[in-house]
Amino acid sequence: MSTPRSYLDCNATTCIDPEVLEVYTSLLKEVWGNPSSTHREGQRAKSFIVEAKDRIKKALNAPPHYDVLFFSSATEAINTLLKGVVSSTIREKKLVNSLKSFLTTEMEHAAVYETVKCFERTWANFNVKYLPPNLYGAPSLQDVERAVENELQSQCSLLGASFMAVNNETGVITDELPRIASLLQSLRIPLIVDGVALLGKAPIDFYDGISALIFSGHKIHAPKGIGFALVDKRLRFDPLIVGGPQESGKRAGTENPPLAGALAFAVEKTSLQLSSDLDYMRSLQQKFEERLISELTADVCVINGEGKRVPSTSNIAFLGVDGEDLLFNLDLKGVSASHGSACSSGALEPSRVLLKMGYSHERASSSLRFSISRLTTEEEIEKALKEIVALVKAIRKKT
Ligand code: PLP
Repeated sequence: MSTPRSYLDCNATTCIDPEVLEVYTSLLKEVWGNPSSTHREGQRAKSFIVEAKDRIKKALNAPPHYDVLFFSSATEAINTLLKGVVSSTIREKKLVNSLKSFLTTEMEHAAVYETVKCFERTWANFNVKYLPPNLYGAPSLQDVERAVENELQSQCSLLGASFMAVNNETGVITDELPRIASLLQSLRIPLIVDGVALLGKAPIDFYDGISALIFSGHKIHAPKGIGFALVDKRLRFDPLIVGGPQESGKRAGTENPPLAGALAFAVEKTSLQLSSDLDYMRSLQQKFEERLISELTADVCVINGEGKRVPSTSNIAFLGVDGEDLLFNLDLKGVSASHGSACSSGALEPSRVLLKMGYSHERASSSLRFSISRLTTEEEIEKALKEIVALVKAIRKKT
C-alpha cells in the first residue's frame, strides 16, 4: 500500500470536498435543462442559477447593490471586468487619443498582470502604473496616493485600478485596501479586487469603493470551471464574451446550474465554518513554521513577506538550497509544494513577486510556497516537516 501524500499546494488548487461533490453529482443528474428555455425543465434550471446567486450573496454578506456574475474561472472574470471597464470608459468618454492610465501592483497574479499589459498594446497613449509591494508584501496607501496624484497632475485619465486582497504567493494581506478603496472612490476611479486568495482565508468585508470582487471555485474545494464576481450594479463595463443574453448580457454562454449549485454550497460551507477553520489553519501554520525554524535554525529558514499574512500560506526561503532541487525531491518523497513559475523551457524561474518585493535572485530561487486549506490534516503537516528538514539538511551538506 502506498503511503499517503502531503498536499501543501492548496493555493494552486484544492480537492473537491466530498459533500460538495455529492451536491454536484446529484445536480448533474437532476438539473440538466437550459436556463434560457421557457419550458419547465428550463425554468427549473434557471431557478437554480438565481437561487445560487442569492445564496452566495447571503453567505458572503454582500450589500444589495452587488450582483453575482458567473464565469468559467477567476481569470475570465478578471479579463472581463478589467478590459470591459477600460473599453467602455474610453468609448463613453471619447478618450481614444488622450493620455490614459491604469493603476495596479507588481505583485498581482498573472490573470491581472497579463491583462493590464494588453492595455498598452491595444490602446494608444496608455500607461500602466505598477506599484511595488516592498519587503512588506503589499502596496502602501502613501504609494497609491502618490501614484494617483502623479497621474492626475500629468493630465492623464486614470481609468481604473486593480489590487489583490491577499497575495497568493506570500499570503500577505493588502491591509491598506479599505483606505485605498475609499481614496479611489472619492476620485470616482473604479477598483477591481482580485479576492481569489482571500475567500476562506480571512473574513470578507464589502467596504465602500469596491467596484467588483472576484473569486474562484476551485480554491475553496468546489469543482474547476467556475469563477464568480460580486459586481457593483453601477459599474459600467463591456462584456468580453458576447452571444446570447445570459447574465444580463454581461457574459454570454449557457449557464451551468449544477456547477453554480455546487459553488453556492461550497461558499456557504466556507463562510459558515470560517472562524473555526481559520483557528485550525493558524494552528497548523504556526506549528509548521515554528518547527522548521527551530529544526533548521533561523539562519537557514526565513519567512518571505513581512506583512500580516493569512493562515493558509507560508512562503519560505531555505538559504543555501536550490528551491527547484528541493521541490523535485519533496515530490519524490510524497510532499507537494510550489516554487516560482515554469518558463518556456519548462525550467522554473524564481517568483516575479519575490523579486519585485526586493529579495535577491538567490533568495527567491531558494524559496518554496506551502499552502494549506481547511481540509489539510495534522498528519500531512508532520510528514512535510519530516521530509523538508531531512532534505534541506542533506542538500546543504552536499554543497
Ligand atoms: N488570482 C489569484 C490570486 C490566483 O491565485 C489565481 C489562481 O491561482 C487566479 C487569480 C486565477 O484563478 P482561476 O484559476 O480561477 O483562473
